Amino acid sequence: MSPRGDSLHGFPVAEGSLQVGGVALERLALRVGRTPFYAYDRARLDARVAELRRHLPQAIHLSYAIKANPMPALVQHMAGAVDGLDVASGGELLVALDTTMPAERISFAGPGKTEPELRQALAAEVTVNVESPGELETLARLGTEIGLRPRVALRVNPDFELRASGMRMGGGARQFGVDAETVPALLDDVKRLDLDFQGFHIFTGSQNLSAEAICDGQKQTVELALRLAESAPAPVRLLNIGGGFGIPYFPQDKPLDLAAVGENLAGLVPQIEARLPEARIIVELGRYLVGEAGLYVCRVVDRKVSRGQVYLVTDGGLHHHLAASGNFGQVIRRNYPVALGNRVGGGAPEKVSVVGCLCTPLDLLADGVELPKAEVGDLVVIFQSGAYGLTASPTAFLGHPKPLEVIL
Ligand SMILES: *Cc1c(COP(=O)(O)O)cnc(C)c1O
Repeated sequence: MSPRGDSLHGFPVAEGSLQVGGVALERLALRVGRTPFYAYDRARLDARVAELRRHLPQAIHLSYAIKANPMPALVQHMAGAVDGLDVASGGELLVALDTTMPAERISFAGPGKTEPELRQALAAEVTVNVESPGELETLARLGTEIGLRPRVALRVNPDFELRASGMRMGGGARQFGVDAETVPALLDDVKRLDLDFQGFHIFTGSQNLSAEAICDGQKQTVELALRLAESAPAPVRLLNIGGGFGIPYFPQDKPLDLAAVGENLAGLVPQIEARLPEARIIVELGRYLVGEAGLYVCRVVDRKVSRGQVYLVTDGGLHHHLAASGNFGQVIRRNYPVALGNRVGGGAPEKVSVVGCLCTPLDLLADGVELPKAEVGDLVVIFQSGAYGLTASPTAFLGHPKPLEVIL
């Protein structure tokens, strides 16, 4: 990975300066007013959606899982680009409802939905992806109380596991969804309770870079859905086959072969259309849509040498970007791609560790990386930061101000 050239991790470089949305990074920092901040690039969001549309069959509807990045302006941008939004809390639901996405294209998944959240979903008339028999009963009762017929899809915990997934969310015993073998009985309840049955939601896992594993998972997902549909009380109108498309974070990671995933889906779509002619087929993505479009930017506030090792101490840290510090579910800590955004390709590289301003050894943003010789005031950029950044970080830890977020 060369720091020289016209672009770095997909962001243009001009005169040694990284450009976001056509603005040089130092200029952007002035415009934002303070560091640290996250910056998201609309053109890259659009390019990613276009790439998906090019490779996936036309019948596939794209849904954005907003937990990956719930910044309201970004969610509104995505609402204009994709076909649906998936939320996982009452708070996210409010963000989604503030966009121009119609309520019938919003779904609400996630375990532990509270009664107030279910009432919100009922009142907004979004689809609730039901995660348990108890939740189904509660939703039905609340629907009767309020006088609204719940729109429900069943989230299914499949009877298979996704291979090669960074984070498995289906197969075996799970807190997510209802076990596939109990779905027919639950569908009887859906009928008995006179709920507005929409279909199925099957999400097997996250951060998967293996097209082969994803294709295999999608094939098994479709087989399972077609089997379950035989017990459905009404035609299946919504079939959410999950997503889990990963993005490369580390040098050995290879980008997902999207063409292979598209080809596999092209083979599955006719089967679905033949058996479930009314079904909208949904692929639900978070990280893959937004992860590569975002940067985290912090400033070097001190440069020190400890027994021969150079430390760049920044005003950022794990309280803003837990994932980059390696503490967001990673087993082995590896460096996210990093650069000096105002000094790309500038001078002989030196080996440094980039740390944050928290008084804990966990606050490590990049360990033993080669960067051009940095000075106080330089801007450290962490790439691949558009998903699971700010809102997946413990911002209150040590009481520093929250970072800002901008979208260009
Ligand atoms: C977290 C989640 C997603 C998004 O996962 P990504 O890895 O960001 O694509 C999608 N669907 C459900 C149900 C989720 O819980």
